Amino acid sequence: MQAVSVASATVGLTIAMKALGVGPGDEVITTTNTFSATAMSAYHLGARPVLVDIDPHTLTIDPAKIEAAITPRTKVLLPVHLAGLSCDMDVIGELAYQHNLHVIEDAAHALPTTWKGRLVGSGAATASVFSFYTTKSITTGEGGMVTTADPDLAACMRRLRLHGIDRDAFSRLSGNSWQYDVAEAGLKANMTDIAASLGVVQLAKLDRMWARRTEIAQRYLHELAGLPLILPADARSGDRHAWHLFICRLSSEAPIGRNDFVTAMAAHGVQCAVHYIPLHRHSFWRATLGVTEAAFPQAEAVFNSTVTLPLFSAMTDDDVRYVIDVTRSILSS
Ligand SMILES: *Cc1c(COP(=O)(O)O)cnc(C)c1O
Repeated sequence: MQAVSVASATVGLTIAMKALGVGPGDEVITTTNTFSATAMSAYHLGARPVLVDIDPHTLTIDPAKIEAAITPRTKVLLPVHLAGLSCDMDVIGELAYQHNLHVIEDAAHALPTTWKGRLVGSGAATASVFSFYTTKSITTGEGGMVTTADPDLAACMRRLRLHGIDRDAFSRLSGNSWQYDVAEAGLKANMTDIAASLGVVQLAKLDRMWARRTEIAQRYLHELAGLPLILPADARSGDRHAWHLFICRLSSEAPIGRNDFVTAMAAHGVQCAVHYIPLHRHSFWRATLGVTEAAFPQAEAVFNSTVTLPLFSAMTDDDVRYVIDVTRSILSS
């Protein structure tokens, strides 16, 4: 495997697709239930993001709806492992094989997720893109990593991340060899050495922080059961959910709606979030892609009821207890 460090996952997605030749006229299939960066990385290459509805159980792209979105212009399937739960990579891999497409995983939430015992990023997709942004499971402040089993693709991404130059500054300036060539239209997308040094230390803590998040998630799953709350799907048995996020839905029996729930939690000092406002609800994507709510009934139903509870490795047992107690009291009233 090769790992190419980059300035962010957003630009990592861009250079992975650029290295695969994605450009104007091409289509990239992803889901509406993601962060805008997923689709924007394709947009800035001149490609068209094609948004697919979600499976309301996993909240990730509905594998059964992908095939209908494939056209002769499709180049890439870009699944998002939302919250740290792997998409069904068997179905996605099979579709890619049948239609001769690349799979690039948005793995911004998926460290250390596994699918069928294999770590996301260890070669099942053409390329896997991780984020080390402040909110992610490990952080370098800003940063990301693209992994691939293809050494030529990795070499191309290394050029693209640094001006399209065929040699990096270290190899240029060591010894007596100042020559270099701008071989293609590169970007300025390298990870800084300072960020990388943070990443080395963070990586050593990954397993411990993941174990703690998993412990908290399992507590939520047990102690919030029985409330009018649809709890997130766990990974398949034997697999790892990264538990980057704990995304719930209020069920139709809940005594209050999502917006009031978030306000009530905040009044008790518990800050919740919503993942995500689907792309088809944002003005830019509506205007650019011509998408409306009608095409995404599942994502719409989920969006109106979804809420993300606090989940981070530094939470104390008392913090977790408090979130559970406040959630219970609001939903039992
Ligand atoms: C955070 C995030 C990104 C972008 O990551 P950056 O490193 O901030 O560029 C992309 N996709 C998803 C799903 C994310 O959550």
